[in-house]
Amino acid sequence: MSLIRNKITRNIKSLALLGLNYLSPGGTAILMYHSVGRNKIFFTVKPEDFQKQMACLSAKGYSVVPLARLAEMIKNKEEFPRKTVVLTFDDSFEDNYSNVFPVLKKYNFPATFFVATDFIGKDQKNESTGIFFKTLSWPQIKEMSESGLIDFEPHTSTHRELTGISLEEAKKEILDSKRAIEEGLGKKCHFFAYPRGKYDEEIIKILKENGFLAAVTVNPGRVRKTSDLLKLPRQSIDSLTYKLQFLHKIL
Ligand SMILES: [Zn+2]
Repeated sequence: MSLIRNKITRNIKSLALLGLNYLSPGGTAILMYHSVGRNKIFFTVKPEDFQKQMACLSAKGYSVVPLARLAEMIKNKEEFPRKTVVLTFDDSFEDNYSNVFPVLKKYNFPATFFVATDFIGKDQKNESTGIFFKTLSWPQIKEMSESGLIDFEPHTSTHRELTGISLEEAKKEILDSKRAIEEGLGKKCHFFAYPRGKYDEEIIKILKENGFLAAVTVNPGRVRKTSDLLKLPRQSIDSLTYKLQFLHKIL
């Protein structure tokens, strides 16, 4: 029996990989990117691969919607339209301006960029590789925000794991980064990304008490209309995501 089940699962998986939507496991993917460039950090996607991925979304008729729209659909318990996807980029890599923004403009795809606000305009060291990388500057952030395509939202001030510090420090990390973006761009922030995906109920309480509508994690999976708005899963796209995996992640 389990042999038959395995065979059926395998067949469904291979059909799903071909992009057949009637076999879609349901829900919507929030894709999580970091750097799009040529450094050796494992999560970095090559610019040509990123271009192919966006071309693939366009060719397959995907509707790329802002995170705010997805949050609204969940809040209203609306059915998600088929072929909907959300794009997010974490950690404010400078290459998000040079390699991502032009491609998003080409396809008119909206995206949310989660920024650790103390990093803005300062070189940062990737902790696992020791590689230094450039971060976005305020003029770049302003230009992208004014395009109407990119929504900037907080990702703390210094990218510390919120469950490893006191609640007072965590609250300061969250609110300082929220304020920096709100003041820098003259807008309100309602979304948050937990650094390294670390959160607990106390952190969620801080978000709820301070006007956040939704927050994204690094837990893999699809968003459904029953998803908890403050624990939204994301599908990570990195240097190891080959084409069939990408197709599977957006299904
Ligand atoms: Zn991050």
